Amino acid sequence: MAQGLIRRADVDAVRERSRLDEVVAEHVTLRTAGIGSMKGLCPFHDEKTPSFNIRPQLGHWHCFGCGEGGDVISFVQKINHLSFVEAVEMLAAKYGVQLQYEDSGGERGERPDFGTRRRLLDAHAIAEEYYREQLATPAAEVGRRFLTERGFDQEAAAHFGVGFAPEGWDSLTGVLRKRGFTEPELVASGLVSEGQRGVYDRFRGRLVWPIRDITGNTIGFGARRLLDSDKGPKYLNTPETAIYHKSQVLYGLDIARKEISAQHRVVVVEGYTDVMAAHLAGVKTAVASCGTAFGADHVKIVRRVMGDSNPSAGLRLNTDGRSLAGEVIFTFDGDAAGQKAALRAFEEDQRFVAQTYVAVEASGMDPCDLRIQQGDQAVRDLIETRRPLFEFAIRTAISQVDLDTVEGQVTALRMAAPVVSRIRDRAMRPEYARRLSGWLGMDEGTVLRAVHDAARSEGRGGHRADVPAQAPGAPGAGGQGSDGAPEPLPAARLADVVPPRDPVGQVETQSLAVMLQAPQLLDTEKVASLPDDAFHVPALQSVWDVMLAAGTLLDAAEGQLHPARFLEQVLEIAGETVRPLIVEIANLDLPARDEQGLSKLAGSLLDRLTELSITREYSVLKQRLQRTDPSDSERYQEIMARLTQVQGRRRALRAGGD
Ligand SMILES: [Zn+2]
Repeated sequence: MAQGLIRRADVDAVRERSRLDEVVAEHVTLRTAGIGSMKGLCPFHDEKTPSFNIRPQLGHWHCFGCGEGGDVISFVQKINHLSFVEAVEMLAAKYGVQLQYEDSGGERGERPDFGTRRRLLDAHAIAEEYYREQLATPAAEVGRRFLTERGFDQEAAAHFGVGFAPEGWDSLTGVLRKRGFTEPELVASGLVSEGQRGVYDRFRGRLVWPIRDITGNTIGFGARRLLDSDKGPKYLNTPETAIYHKSQVLYGLDIARKEISAQHRVVVVEGYTDVMAAHLAGVKTAVASCGTAFGADHVKIVRRVMGDSNPSAGLRLNTDGRSLAGEVIFTFDGDAAGQKAALRAFEEDQRFVAQTYVAVEASGMDPCDLRIQQGDQAVRDLIETRRPLFEFAIRTAISQVDLDTVEGQVTALRMAAPVVSRIRDRAMRPEYARRLSGWLGMDEGTVLRAVHDAARSEGRGGHRADVPAQAPGAPGAGGQGSDGAPEPLPAARLADVVPPRDPVGQVETQSLAVMLQAPQLLDTEKVASLPDDAFHVPALQSVWDVMLAAGTLLDAAEGQLHPARFLEQVLEIAGETVRPLIVEIANLDLPARDEQGLSKLAGSLLDRLTELSITREYSVLKQRLQRTDPSDSERYQEIMARLTQVQGRRRALRAGGD
């Protein structure tokens, strides 16, 4: 049995060396089913025709019949009824991997050994001090101007530890070497990048914000582009290291922690400058995720800080209207990205959603701009305009249609009813159905019926997602609602979200399938040019959102990241609702005979996907133009210019595709 945690690297080695086809073949007779895939009768449910699929190269298995799926470790766990550690030990013995255990000391999670962790923290402390000193130098003028323009004086910059990374290739590298850090340590710290001629400074000519863990140790940096000559992304962050995990890092948490726990409230903003602006304006509970969307792990951290151990308390309100279990307030800068982020949050744990609010500034300003233009009070007021996430999600869904027509109302109802039906807390559903009827201007009975139908058709999948058990002791932990009906978390199945005869849906599904299954065959340029909102089917867009949040598709396309590792990362950050869908798509059979065929298919799918999204953008702009008063010439011209640009892109795509 386990003496402690198995080192993460050893678990990875076990996963890599185990042959899924061999392991499965001990229990299931497999036959080749298509390129890179094999089929057999599912060992986890009764069936007569094979719907159990494995992809040995990806190390993934999935059953289209019962929805089970996972990697080689989870297969061994399930088939032999073992714990994770036991399954890893069994595979390690079979494939000759030597396991090492860490003394976990009662703590869960990865624990790099003390010496290494200490060294990495030291390197960060030195780097922070160095960057801070550099901010006062003449070369940092551009950085100081950036701060001043955003309303931050010297004191504010010092309070948040903002610094400047000079332009040279080895400014920081040199400092750290002089302090005795070895090249492997520098690489492990993420402060340098590796080139063909050795290591060099990762952040150059940028403003840098130290990112700290909850105890105040600096574990990474976020860096803002300042110079025109800098061709890198606007924001560059520390990569994943032994001490920096972006899915678990919240910028500002170290200074906000006390207030979050005192106020039972956390405000989630979108960037470093927004965190600064919010705190300076008196919103002392502001934090931001760094280089990734606010995800499931962030939820856990926030909940822990708020001391929210009783999830069902989320609905009880204090006399001042605040919920007793705490509030999570998202501020988004009103654009489509923000709305998508909100909808993604909607995909998360629903116990959390019940406590979640959204505050959007009327003209779309973020807290930083708002503070510059209207002052501190305006930022505090913005937070008070929060609306429940459910309301925000429903209104976002119906805002896309014209409610002045009967067709529009019916369409809106069709879009919004499933959102209401997915609210897990049955007590809240009738209330939202009532509000929805008000927003739509429709009869309440009609709306309630639509919600009821939507709930039934979602339930028809008859499939339960792999949901972790409810917290023991929580009311309703028996798994039954008060009316005796089970309350499954609806997990999307592909067949439910994409109609089989919907050609656009098919293109979108297959595009995701090639990206998840064979990223190494993709044309990097085509991948890079896909827009953030490339997908029309909402459930597929949320899969795409997860892939974007993972942020490593390009690495996989360039062959820098193993396809299996890419898929693993995507699954790791996916919410409970969307994960089964990703597994299903990752196991989908594609109409290609060999790798060459698959590569060709991938190219044409991505072209088609790009074309579809351009066409959609074009028609949205066209409609907007029709609604715009030509006498508002500035706006008119702007839309015209964008239309011309979109047309140009479409032409270029067609010319290139021939
Ligand atoms: Zn099955």
